[in-house]
Amino acid sequence: MSNTLKTALPGGFKPEGRHLWRPYTQMKTAQPALPVVSAGGVRLNLADGRSLIDGVSSWWTTVHGYSHPHIVGAICDQVERLSHVMLGGLTHAPAERLAARLAALAPGDLDHVFFCESGSVSVEIAMKMAVQSWINRGVHGRTRFVCFRGGYHGDTIATMSVCDPEEGMHALFAGSLPQQIVADLPQDSESTARFEALLDAHAHEIAGVVTEPLVQGAGGMRFFSPETLRTIRAACDARGLPLIVDEIMTGFGRLGTMFACEKAGIVPDVMTVSKALTGGTLPLAAAIASRGMFEHFWRDEASAALMHGPTYMGNPAACAAANASLDLFEREPRLDQVAQIEAAYARLLPPARDIPGVVDVRWQGAIGVIEMPGLPELDALKSGFVEAGVWVRPFGNIVYLMPPYVISQEDLEHLIRTTVAVTRAWA
Ligand code: PLP
Repeated sequence: MSNTLKTALPGGFKPEGRHLWRPYTQMKTAQPALPVVSAGGVRLNLADGRSLIDGVSSWWTTVHGYSHPHIVGAICDQVERLSHVMLGGLTHAPAERLAARLAALAPGDLDHVFFCESGSVSVEIAMKMAVQSWINRGVHGRTRFVCFRGGYHGDTIATMSVCDPEEGMHALFAGSLPQQIVADLPQDSESTARFEALLDAHAHEIAGVVTEPLVQGAGGMRFFSPETLRTIRAACDARGLPLIVDEIMTGFGRLGTMFACEKAGIVPDVMTVSKALTGGTLPLAAAIASRGMFEHFWRDEASAALMHGPTYMGNPAACAAANASLDLFEREPRLDQVAQIEAAYARLLPPARDIPGVVDVRWQGAIGVIEMPGLPELDALKSGFVEAGVWVRPFGNIVYLMPPYVISQEDLEHLIRTTVAVTRAWA
């Protein structure tokens, strides 16, 4: 569909708001959602004619901007030819090609790509791979995961269980989920010793270790050093434990390298990706396993197969979108654009350090963060951003920016300055 046709579509619609159950929303008291009728580049166009610069890439997905014609064209071509087909017993070119490209791009021997439709499910699959890898070796009772305070890995029951149990967004479920083993990130000799002691104390029951790489996202946008990730890898290696690295937020350039693991020079046993995989067009995720992990399933016995198969796994249109997104990474200077975003943060975010009460201002790659002591009037702050023409969605006590990489310098500077000004006015 051409952009001309899109803008010619009738714009106004009134959200009825009674039947659509919105995410993370108290439906009884929440302000109405803003109706979006179209989007292009970095702008969301609202039904009332306003447009907003998207400062968060629609939950960190639209790295090439909205409806990039190369991705839209690839999806349309694919839908006309083969919009969907089951992967059980059948295969198709977009999935085969994407799996091969992801295997080539992913660090080390991460060579085996299992597709699904959402980030949470890819983490579940990675966890299942770890548990079954022990069962397939005749080792039983290894069912628990070591995860980290401040971590976030999704909203399903198993993925909630590996989020921060106390301060994370799923704290309400404390005590109602599978009990995992929660560690502090090993950031110095003391926490490293505690982490290693925990691994040893639970040696008989640990199936694997799950972490985000270099930044804990939805748990608070906290950065940690490559050395910490290397420490986690080394501790797992010493004990033969599978390490799952969740690159759902960081994958595809957000920290300036294609995958954040690259910055630490480590290779996980399973890496999960989603979000920017299709450039924010269609849902797709993958658990990418190392050769070593895959070999635990490479047996003569059918019973050793990975018993998993989401209906829409490897949907051809979604795979075509992801292939087109990877084309754009090859053809256009996306990682340089991330470096430019980082440079703009370095110039324009420091003034936020004067905001009354501010706790911290930090940035890395295309992630910029203003941490406040608490955001009690969050709705007022959110409305302030919309009134100022930017789409910025603070959570907890965190105001953050993760714009599309293609944002122009002018829009970027406007976005950062506006975010600082609105936060300051609200503080
Ligand atoms: N893991 C990480 C690191 C994430 O940031 C997210 C989503 O924000 C998820 C997992 C869950 O992905 P999804 O929302 O696609 O289920």
